[in-house]
This record gives sequence, structure tokens and C-alpha cells, in this order.
Amino acid sequence: MLQNIRVVLVNTSHPGNIGGAARAMKNMGLGQLVLVAPHSFPAPEASARASGADDVLANARVVPTLEEALAGCALVLGTSARDRSLPWPMLEPRECGHKTVVAAAGGQPVALVFGREHAGLTNDELQRCHFHVHIPANPDFSSLNLAAAVQVLAYEVRTAWLATQGAPAAGPEPAAPALATMDQMEGFYRHLETTLVEVGFLDPANPRHLMARLRRLFGRSNVDHTEMSILRGILTETQKAVRGEPHKRKEP
Ligand code: SAH
Repeated sequence: MLQNIRVVLVNTSHPGNIGGAARAMKNMGLGQLVLVAPHSFPAPEASARASGADDVLANARVVPTLEEALAGCALVLGTSARDRSLPWPMLEPRECGHKTVVAAAGGQPVALVFGREHAGLTNDELQRCHFHVHIPANPDFSSLNLAAAVQVLAYEVRTAWLATQGAPAAGPEPAAPALATMDQMEGFYRHLETTLVEVGFLDPANPRHLMARLRRLFGRSNVDHTEMSILRGILTETQKAVRGEPHKRKEP
């Protein structure tokens, strides 16, 4: 089940932090590391700091974009050391551990996303996440070292997981419908944006925060596969209507 949990590090500058994160993960039983465009990897400093977690580094996947790192995920949690302009659903590290374990136990991949050492995650990257997680550190000095932040959340995941191990065997849960994956959601957002421009609701010259607000809305809606098909169908028919193309449903 812990195999369904991936740690995503975006644009890491110092390979030592990649090694430190790998060690923190392995200590807590996590093994899936994804690196989005790291500045330097593989690197001797990463292996040195991993000190024994070389298998996590060897299995690490390097991808060019965050979108690729999140492909297949049903839940994405982004970490942030400070408040951002558009308020987003927030989780405490403890709730983050719990939500991560519940989703991973359901069989769908979960991503914990960490930002750059100097600049964190961009607003665009944070808006791809369902929730933001803030480690409630000293407000006068709230930014943890990257590997230390990975350690805190990996520990919370482990604590939540251990609690499920000790729990008496529960009866079979009714199977929850599979949630739409991040790649399906991204395809939907592209389709939604195009359609909103076509119907004249979204002005590309003055988009304001419309797409970010819609991402926040759909992100907290737990959209499943069937609902995703319905949403895509509505967009397709809307586009046909504005383009004057024939409808799926025949006129009476
Ligand atoms: N100067 C950056 C901080 C980057 S710290 C900024 O102001 O955003 C590098 C990464 O460690 C962050 O992107 C985040 O993933 C994680 N991190 C550090 N401190 C954190 C905190 N208090 N809560 C959550 N994540 C934190």
C-alpha cells in the first residue's frame, strides 16, 4: 500500500537534498521518488546523503514536467512554507498523513509534492494540487530544509499507516468508485478552458483567476470516472452548439 505513495521533488537545486529525502523516505517505508527536472542527478552528493537508501535513488524516476510526475494520481498534496494569494483547502501534516493512507489503501496513487529550495512551488504548480499542506513551524522562521520537510510528512504517513496496521480487521468496505486521475483532470481543464473561451465566458486577454478557481472547485469534488465522462460530454455538446454543429440528441 505504501507503494502507492510517491514523493515528488520539483526542480531540486542541491543533489544532497535528494539524497536526504531518499533516506527520510526509506526510514519511513516509502520508496517511490519522482524528480521533476532536477539540476543535478545522479550525483555523488545525493548518494552520500542517502547513506543506505541508494535503492530509492536507483529507482527514482526523472521526468521533465510536474504533469508527468502526477500522471495516474488520484490525490495530490502540495507543500508550502507560506500563504499564497488564492486561498486553497489546507491540511495539517497529521491530516495529510491520514488522507494519504486512506487514498493509497483504496489502490490509487497519491503524490506528495515538494518545491524548490529557494522559491518553493509556483502558484501554477500549487493549483494542480487538491490540498496544500503547511508544517506549522516557527512563523518567524517557517521554511524547513527540503529533506527535513519530506521527513516530517513521511513520518506522518507512517504514523497513519501504523494505526491502520494495529486496527482490528474491519469488514469489507463498499468499493468506492475510482477517482479521475490527474491526467484526466488536466485534459478536462484544457477542454473546459477552450470551451469557456468559445462560449465567450472566459476572455483570454483578461482571464483573472477563473481557471484557478475552477481547479479549486473541481479539485475538492472527488470527481470519479463516470462523472468525468459526463463533464467531457457536456463540454463537447456545448462546443457543437456554439459552432452550430449537429447535436447528439435529435430535435423533437
Ligand atoms: N523559500 C521557499 C521555501 C522553500 S523550502 C518559499 O518561501 O516557499 C523547500 C520546500 O520544502 C518547500 O517548497 C516545501 O515543499 C517544503 N517546506 C519547507 N518548509 C515547509 C513548511 N513549513 N511547510 C510545508 N512545506 C515546507
